[in-house]
Amino acid sequence: MPAKKAIIKTDREKLYAILTNLVKNALKYTEKGSIELGYHLKTDNEPYKLEFYIKDTGIGISKDRQEAIFERFIQADIADKQAHQGAGLGLSISKAYVEMLGGKIWVESNHDGESGGKLPAGKAGGSTFYFTLPYTTEPTEISIDRQHKPSVENKTIRKLRILIAEDDEASEMLIDTYVKSFAKEILKVRTGIEAIKICQTNPDIDLILMDIQMPEMGGYEATKQIREFNKEVIIIAQTAYGLAGDREKALNAGCNDYISKPIKKEVLLHKIGKLKFK
Ligand code: MN
Repeated sequence: MPAKKAIIKTDREKLYAILTNLVKNALKYTEKGSIELGYHLKTDNEPYKLEFYIKDTGIGISKDRQEAIFERFIQADIADKQAHQGAGLGLSISKAYVEMLGGKIWVESNHDGESGGKLPAGKAGGSTFYFTLPYTTEPTEISIDRQHKPSVENKTIRKLRILIAEDDEASEMLIDTYVKSFAKEILKVRTGIEAIKICQTNPDIDLILMDIQMPEMGGYEATKQIREFNKEVIIIAQTAYGLAGDREKALNAGCNDYISKPIKKEVLLHKIGKLKFK
């Protein structure tokens, strides 16, 4: 499987919490036997899904409780209540998280006796919890929160006016493809002097991706001069090799952040996503 397809994009913390809760739950209900977990890629219907499973050989859950156990504060009615306290909360949290991530959760269990009853001798118990997550392998086009999930106070999606100050054409084209999807306008200059000039005539630029090494005037000096008349514009320095001290130099010059070359799309979008635009 190519590496790209082995990495899913999801909320790491939530997935971790879901798996932890389900494994803890399985451990709690399984006095002897085994617990197995894994996942399968389901491609029978689009969109594709990853189906995770956590299978135990424990006491099982009777049919009439199989939905209720995901509700808050309700637990399976089982013989030994003391030993199995508190499972309900973890499961209801797992359910809430799975649904937030766009999936479903359910349980299948071999226990088909009366509620609270013991399994007939020789009959295997055990439950398998399943949950699904959307199979999203490509980074979402824009990982900027305000673009994709407009908050209540910011319902309108505002696209940015972006200046790429970069003397190297290949780098400039690359950045262009990275920022295109959330740009209202992309302006381009090749020197620090041009960067200052274009900022003077375009006070509404939202973001500058400022190369540090450009002919005539580099990005640090250009940033200092732009800051004399524009304190609002967000400036991200593009530093050549990620040398120690770049961060300080960039911040001292008046940049809001810096990114080292070669620029990776995800890093750039992550940084832009964290910044506050006016
Ligand atoms: Mn350069």
